[in-house]
Amino acid sequence: MMKIIAYVILGVLILGLLGFTVSVRNFLRDTKIAEASWKEFKPEKMEGLGTVKELKIMPLIDYYTTSDTLTGEPGSSYLVSVGDQKILFDIGYNMENEHPSPLLRNMKQLGVDINDIDTIVISHNHVDHIGGMKAMKQNTFLLSGEETDLNHVKAYVPEKMSHATAEVEVITKPKKIAEGIATIGTVDRAIWAMGLTSEQALAVNVEGKGLVLIVGCGHQKAARILERARDLFDIPIYGVIGGLHYPVEESRMKFNMQKILGTGKLPWQRIEKHEVMEAAAELDKTNLSMIAISAHDSCDWTLDKFREVFRERYLDVMVGKEISVGR
Ligand SMILES: [Zn+2]
Ligand SMILES: [Zn+2]
Repeated sequence: MMKIIAYVILGVLILGLLGFTVSVRNFLRDTKIAEASWKEFKPEKMEGLGTVKELKIMPLIDYYTTSDTLTGEPGSSYLVSVGDQKILFDIGYNMENEHPSPLLRNMKQLGVDINDIDTIVISHNHVDHIGGMKAMKQNTFLLSGEETDLNHVKAYVPEKMSHATAEVEVITKPKKIAEGIATIGTVDRAIWAMGLTSEQALAVNVEGKGLVLIVGCGHQKAARILERARDLFDIPIYGVIGGLHYPVEESRMKFNMQKILGTGKLPWQRIEKHEVMEAAAELDKTNLSMIAISAHDSCDWTLDKFREVFRERYLDVMVGKEISVGR
Protein backbone atom coordinates (compact mmCIF):
# COMPACT_ATOMS: atom_id res chain seq x y z
CA MET A 1 0.00 0.00 0.00
CA MET A 2 2.78 2.41 1.03
CA LYS A 3 4.58 1.53 -2.17
CA ILE A 4 1.55 2.45 -4.30
CA ILE A 5 1.16 5.80 -2.51
CA ALA A 6 4.86 6.53 -3.07
CA TYR A 7 4.52 5.75 -6.79
CA VAL A 8 1.44 7.98 -7.08
CA ILE A 9 3.25 10.89 -5.37
CA LEU A 10 6.30 10.36 -7.61
CA GLY A 11 4.05 10.29 -10.67
CA VAL A 12 2.31 13.54 -9.69
CA LEU A 13 5.67 15.20 -9.05
CA ILE A 14 7.05 14.11 -12.42
CA LEU A 15 3.91 15.29 -14.22
CA GLY A 16 4.04 18.62 -12.35
CA LEU A 17 7.67 19.11 -13.26
CA LEU A 18 6.97 18.23 -16.89
CA GLY A 19 4.06 20.69 -17.03
CA PHE A 20 6.18 23.43 -15.49
CA THR A 21 9.04 22.77 -17.93
CA VAL A 22 6.63 22.97 -20.87
CA SER A 23 5.17 26.26 -19.55
CA VAL A 24 8.67 27.75 -19.30
CA ARG A 25 9.57 26.53 -22.78
CA ASN A 26 6.33 27.99 -24.19
CA PHE A 27 7.00 31.30 -22.45
CA LEU A 28 10.49 31.53 -23.98
CA ARG A 29 9.07 30.67 -27.41
CA ASP A 30 6.29 33.29 -27.06
CA THR A 31 8.83 35.91 -25.94
CA LYS A 32 10.74 35.39 -29.20
CA ILE A 33 7.51 35.63 -31.22
CA ALA A 34 6.46 38.84 -29.42
CA GLU A 35 9.86 40.49 -29.88
CA ALA A 36 9.94 39.53 -33.57
CA SER A 37 6.45 40.90 -34.22
CA TRP A 38 7.33 44.18 -32.45
CA LYS A 39 10.44 44.60 -34.63
CA GLU A 40 8.69 43.54 -37.81
CA PHE A 41 5.67 45.84 -37.62
CA LYS A 42 6.37 49.55 -37.76
CA PRO A 43 3.18 51.39 -38.69
CA GLU A 44 2.82 54.17 -41.23
CA LYS A 45 1.68 57.55 -39.97
CA MET A 46 -2.08 57.66 -39.52
CA GLU A 47 -3.42 60.64 -41.44
CA GLY A 48 -6.64 62.50 -40.70
CA LEU A 49 -7.27 61.34 -37.14
CA GLY A 50 -9.18 64.55 -36.43
CA THR A 51 -9.92 65.91 -32.98
CA VAL A 52 -12.52 65.84 -30.27
CA LYS A 53 -13.47 68.93 -28.28
CA GLU A 54 -13.80 67.24 -24.95
CA LEU A 55 -12.98 63.81 -23.56
CA LYS A 56 -14.54 62.39 -20.44
CA ILE A 57 -13.39 59.16 -18.84
CA MET A 58 -15.50 57.66 -16.08
CA PRO A 59 -14.01 54.58 -14.40
CA LEU A 60 -16.93 52.14 -14.00
CA ILE A 61 -14.76 49.33 -12.63
CA ASP A 62 -11.41 49.64 -10.92
CA TYR A 63 -9.93 48.77 -7.54
CA TYR A 64 -10.78 51.99 -5.68
CA THR A 65 -14.19 53.62 -5.54
CA THR A 66 -15.39 57.06 -4.43
CA SER A 67 -18.07 55.56 -2.21
CA ASP A 68 -18.92 52.33 -0.39
CA THR A 69 -22.06 51.89 -2.44
CA LEU A 70 -20.00 51.44 -5.61
CA THR A 71 -18.24 48.10 -6.13
CA GLY A 72 -14.46 47.93 -6.62
CA GLU A 73 -12.78 45.02 -8.38
CA PRO A 74 -9.28 44.01 -9.45
CA GLY A 75 -10.27 44.64 -13.05
CA SER A 76 -11.07 47.66 -15.16
CA SER A 77 -13.76 49.26 -17.29
CA TYR A 78 -13.87 52.89 -18.36
CA LEU A 79 -16.67 54.79 -20.01
CA VAL A 80 -15.08 57.02 -22.64
CA SER A 81 -17.43 59.83 -23.68
CA VAL A 82 -16.86 62.16 -26.59
CA GLY A 83 -19.87 64.32 -27.40
CA ASP A 84 -22.79 61.92 -27.44
CA GLN A 85 -20.58 59.01 -28.47
CA LYS A 86 -19.95 56.48 -25.72
CA ILE A 87 -17.26 53.83 -25.75
CA LEU A 88 -16.90 51.18 -23.09
CA PHE A 89 -13.20 50.41 -22.80
CA ASP A 90 -13.01 46.93 -21.17
CA ILE A 91 -15.75 45.48 -19.00
CA GLY A 92 -14.25 44.50 -15.65
CA TYR A 93 -13.85 41.16 -13.87
CA ASN A 94 -17.17 40.01 -12.33
CA MET A 95 -15.22 37.50 -10.25
CA GLU A 96 -18.32 35.82 -8.78
CA ASN A 97 -20.19 35.76 -12.10
CA GLU A 98 -22.97 37.85 -10.58
CA HIS A 99 -26.05 39.22 -12.26
CA PRO A 100 -26.31 42.13 -12.21
CA SER A 101 -22.53 42.29 -12.30
CA PRO A 102 -20.53 44.92 -10.38
CA LEU A 103 -20.22 46.71 -13.75
CA LEU A 104 -23.99 46.87 -14.30
CA ARG A 105 -24.58 47.89 -10.67
CA ASN A 106 -22.02 50.69 -10.87
CA MET A 107 -23.42 51.80 -14.22
CA LYS A 108 -26.92 52.03 -12.74
CA GLN A 109 -25.69 54.04 -9.79
CA LEU A 110 -23.68 56.39 -12.00
CA GLY A 111 -26.59 56.89 -14.41
CA VAL A 112 -25.02 55.09 -17.38
CA ASP A 113 -27.54 53.36 -19.66
CA ILE A 114 -26.33 50.33 -21.56
CA ASN A 115 -28.42 51.42 -24.56
CA ASP A 116 -26.36 54.60 -24.87
CA ILE A 117 -23.15 52.65 -25.46
CA ASP A 118 -22.19 52.58 -29.15
CA THR A 119 -18.87 50.83 -28.99
CA ILE A 120 -16.97 48.37 -26.83
CA VAL A 121 -13.20 48.12 -27.03
CA ILE A 122 -11.56 45.12 -25.35
CA SER A 123 -7.91 45.86 -24.57
CA HIS A 124 -6.89 42.21 -24.18
CA ASN A 125 -8.33 38.80 -23.49
CA HIS A 126 -7.69 38.52 -19.74
CA VAL A 127 -10.38 37.75 -17.17
CA ASP A 128 -10.16 41.15 -15.46
CA HIS A 129 -11.02 42.97 -18.72
CA ILE A 130 -13.53 40.69 -20.46
CA GLY A 131 -15.95 40.10 -17.59
CA GLY A 132 -14.54 36.99 -15.95
CA MET A 133 -13.71 33.32 -16.24
CA LYS A 134 -17.01 32.34 -17.86
CA ALA A 135 -16.31 34.81 -20.68
CA MET A 136 -12.79 33.44 -21.08
CA LYS A 137 -14.03 29.85 -21.30
CA GLN A 138 -16.56 30.85 -23.96
CA ASN A 139 -14.00 33.03 -25.78
CA THR A 140 -16.27 36.04 -25.55
CA PHE A 141 -16.83 39.11 -23.36
CA LEU A 142 -19.70 39.34 -20.87
CA LEU A 143 -21.06 42.44 -19.19
CA SER A 144 -22.90 40.37 -16.60
CA GLY A 145 -23.67 36.84 -15.37
CA GLU A 146 -26.68 36.74 -17.68
CA GLU A 147 -26.79 37.69 -21.33
CA THR A 148 -27.05 41.40 -22.10
CA ASP A 149 -28.37 42.47 -25.48
CA LEU A 150 -25.61 44.29 -27.37
CA ASN A 151 -27.32 44.34 -30.76
CA HIS A 152 -26.65 48.05 -31.07
CA VAL A 153 -22.94 47.75 -30.22
CA LYS A 154 -19.83 47.53 -32.38
CA ALA A 155 -17.00 45.76 -30.54
CA TYR A 156 -13.30 45.96 -31.35
CA VAL A 157 -11.44 42.98 -29.91
CA PRO A 158 -7.70 42.23 -30.00
CA GLU A 159 -7.94 38.59 -31.04
CA LYS A 160 -10.52 36.16 -32.39
CA MET A 161 -13.50 36.36 -29.99
CA SER A 162 -17.20 36.12 -30.62
CA HIS A 163 -20.31 37.62 -29.07
CA ALA A 164 -23.94 36.51 -29.21
CA THR A 165 -25.32 39.92 -30.20
CA ALA A 166 -22.61 42.58 -30.71
CA GLU A 167 -20.96 43.13 -34.10
CA VAL A 168 -17.38 42.06 -33.49
CA GLU A 169 -14.27 43.20 -35.38
CA VAL A 170 -10.82 41.83 -34.62
CA ILE A 171 -8.21 44.58 -34.46
CA THR A 172 -4.51 43.96 -34.85
CA LYS A 173 -3.38 47.00 -36.83
CA PRO A 174 -3.92 50.63 -35.82
CA LYS A 175 -7.30 51.97 -36.95
CA LYS A 176 -9.33 55.15 -36.65
CA ILE A 177 -12.64 54.12 -35.06
CA ALA A 178 -14.31 57.54 -34.79
CA GLU A 179 -13.45 61.20 -35.37
CA GLY A 180 -10.41 61.91 -33.18
CA ILE A 181 -10.31 58.35 -31.78
CA ALA A 182 -8.10 55.44 -32.85
CA THR A 183 -6.83 52.14 -31.56
CA ILE A 184 -3.04 52.07 -31.72
CA GLY A 185 -3.28 48.38 -32.70
CA THR A 186 -2.08 45.43 -30.71
CA VAL A 187 1.35 44.87 -29.20
CA ASP A 188 2.17 41.27 -28.24
CA ARG A 189 3.70 40.18 -24.96
CA ALA A 190 4.51 36.71 -23.69
CA ILE A 191 2.76 36.06 -20.39
CA TRP A 192 3.85 32.97 -18.46
CA ALA A 193 1.12 30.30 -18.20
CA MET A 194 -1.27 32.52 -20.15
CA GLY A 195 0.36 32.54 -23.56
CA LEU A 196 0.91 35.28 -26.07
CA THR A 197 -1.20 38.29 -25.15
CA SER A 198 -2.16 40.88 -27.75
CA GLU A 199 -3.18 44.17 -26.18
CA GLN A 200 -4.52 47.34 -27.76
CA ALA A 201 -4.85 50.85 -26.31
CA LEU A 202 -6.91 53.83 -27.45
CA ALA A 203 -5.60 57.21 -28.52
CA VAL A 204 -7.97 60.19 -28.34
CA ASN A 205 -6.84 63.49 -29.86
CA VAL A 206 -8.27 66.33 -27.76
CA GLU A 207 -8.32 69.72 -29.52
CA GLY A 208 -5.69 72.10 -28.14
CA LYS A 209 -4.30 69.43 -25.77
CA GLY A 210 -3.01 66.39 -27.62
CA LEU A 211 -3.31 62.63 -27.37
CA VAL A 212 -4.76 60.89 -24.36
CA LEU A 213 -3.79 57.21 -24.28
CA ILE A 214 -6.24 54.85 -22.59
CA VAL A 215 -4.66 51.59 -21.49
CA GLY A 216 -5.97 48.27 -20.08
CA CYS A 217 -3.37 46.20 -18.20
CA GLY A 218 -0.37 47.76 -19.92
CA HIS A 219 1.24 44.42 -20.77
CA GLN A 220 2.67 46.13 -23.88
CA LYS A 221 4.86 48.19 -21.50
CA ALA A 222 4.61 51.96 -21.21
CA ALA A 223 7.67 52.60 -23.41
CA ARG A 224 6.18 50.64 -26.32
CA ILE A 225 2.76 52.29 -26.00
CA LEU A 226 4.48 55.68 -26.22
CA GLU A 227 6.67 54.58 -29.12
CA ARG A 228 3.69 53.23 -31.05
CA ALA A 229 1.80 56.50 -30.49
CA ARG A 230 4.80 58.52 -31.69
CA ASP A 231 5.21 56.26 -34.75
CA LEU A 232 1.55 56.76 -35.64
CA PHE A 233 0.97 60.44 -34.98
CA ASP A 234 2.79 63.77 -35.07
CA ILE A 235 0.69 64.87 -32.11
CA PRO A 236 2.06 65.53 -28.60
CA ILE A 237 1.03 63.03 -25.95
CA TYR A 238 -1.03 64.87 -23.35
CA GLY A 239 -1.95 62.12 -20.95
CA VAL A 240 -2.05 58.43 -20.07
CA ILE A 241 -4.80 56.71 -18.12
CA GLY A 242 -5.06 53.04 -17.19
CA GLY A 243 -3.13 50.05 -15.91
CA LEU A 244 0.61 49.60 -16.30
CA HIS A 245 0.98 46.38 -14.30
CA TYR A 246 3.54 47.24 -11.64
CA PRO A 247 2.70 45.07 -8.62
CA VAL A 248 6.04 45.16 -6.77
CA GLU A 249 4.97 45.08 -3.13
CA GLU A 250 2.25 43.37 -1.18
CA SER A 251 -0.41 45.95 -0.59
CA ARG A 252 -4.13 45.50 -0.91
CA MET A 253 -4.35 41.86 -1.88
CA LYS A 254 -3.06 39.24 0.55
CA PHE A 255 -2.00 36.78 -2.10
CA ASN A 256 -1.08 39.15 -4.84
CA MET A 257 -0.89 36.70 -7.74
CA GLN A 258 -0.29 39.60 -10.09
CA LYS A 259 3.28 39.67 -8.79
CA ILE A 260 3.71 36.29 -10.50
CA LEU A 261 1.07 36.29 -13.22
CA GLY A 262 0.92 38.84 -15.99
CA THR A 263 4.40 40.24 -15.38
CA GLY A 264 5.87 39.19 -18.72
CA LYS A 265 8.60 37.40 -16.75
CA LEU A 266 9.28 33.86 -15.59
CA PRO A 267 7.40 32.87 -12.40
CA TRP A 268 10.47 33.13 -10.16
CA GLN A 269 11.34 36.59 -11.47
CA ARG A 270 9.74 39.73 -10.02
CA ILE A 271 9.11 43.25 -11.27
CA GLU A 272 11.76 45.36 -9.53
CA LYS A 273 11.28 48.81 -8.03
CA HIS A 274 13.87 50.33 -10.36
CA GLU A 275 11.69 49.23 -13.32
CA VAL A 276 8.80 51.28 -11.91
CA MET A 277 11.05 54.32 -11.53
CA GLU A 278 12.39 53.86 -15.07
CA ALA A 279 8.87 53.65 -16.47
CA ALA A 280 7.86 56.80 -14.58
CA ALA A 281 10.98 58.59 -15.92
CA GLU A 282 10.22 57.41 -19.46
CA LEU A 283 6.66 58.76 -19.19
CA ASP A 284 7.92 62.00 -17.64
CA LYS A 285 10.29 62.57 -20.60
CA THR A 286 7.15 62.79 -22.72
CA ASN A 287 6.12 65.94 -20.82
CA LEU A 288 2.75 64.50 -19.94
CA SER A 289 0.25 66.97 -18.54
CA MET A 290 -1.85 64.23 -16.96
CA ILE A 291 -1.31 60.69 -15.75
CA ALA A 292 -3.76 58.42 -13.96
CA ILE A 293 -2.60 54.92 -13.03
CA SER A 294 -5.09 52.15 -12.32
CA ALA A 295 -4.75 50.40 -8.96
CA HIS A 296 -6.20 47.18 -10.40
CA ASP A 297 -2.79 45.84 -11.46
CA SER A 298 -0.31 48.02 -9.56
CA CYS A 299 0.43 48.15 -5.83
CA ASP A 300 0.08 51.24 -3.63
CA TRP A 301 3.88 51.65 -3.50
CA THR A 302 3.91 52.09 -7.28
CA LEU A 303 1.00 54.55 -7.19
CA ASP A 304 2.83 56.59 -4.52
CA LYS A 305 5.99 56.74 -6.65
CA PHE A 306 4.01 57.97 -9.64
CA ARG A 307 2.34 60.54 -7.38
CA GLU A 308 5.78 61.77 -6.26
CA VAL A 309 7.14 62.03 -9.80
CA PHE A 310 4.10 63.66 -11.43
CA ARG A 311 2.73 65.67 -8.45
CA GLU A 312 -0.15 67.91 -9.59
CA ARG A 313 -0.26 66.08 -12.93
CA TYR A 314 -1.17 62.80 -11.19
CA LEU A 315 -4.84 61.82 -10.90
CA ASP A 316 -6.35 58.89 -9.05
CA VAL A 317 -8.35 56.33 -10.97
CA MET A 318 -11.48 55.72 -8.91
CA VAL A 319 -14.87 54.32 -9.81
CA GLY A 320 -17.26 57.28 -9.81
CA LYS A 321 -14.63 60.00 -10.34
CA GLU A 322 -14.73 61.34 -13.87
CA ILE A 323 -11.56 62.58 -15.54
CA SER A 324 -12.19 65.21 -18.17
CA VAL A 325 -9.82 66.74 -20.73
CA GLY A 326 -10.55 69.73 -22.98
CA ARG A 327 -12.85 72.78 -23.13
ZN1 LIG B 1 -5.75 43.96 -15.90
ZN1 LIG C 1 -3.92 41.45 -18.32
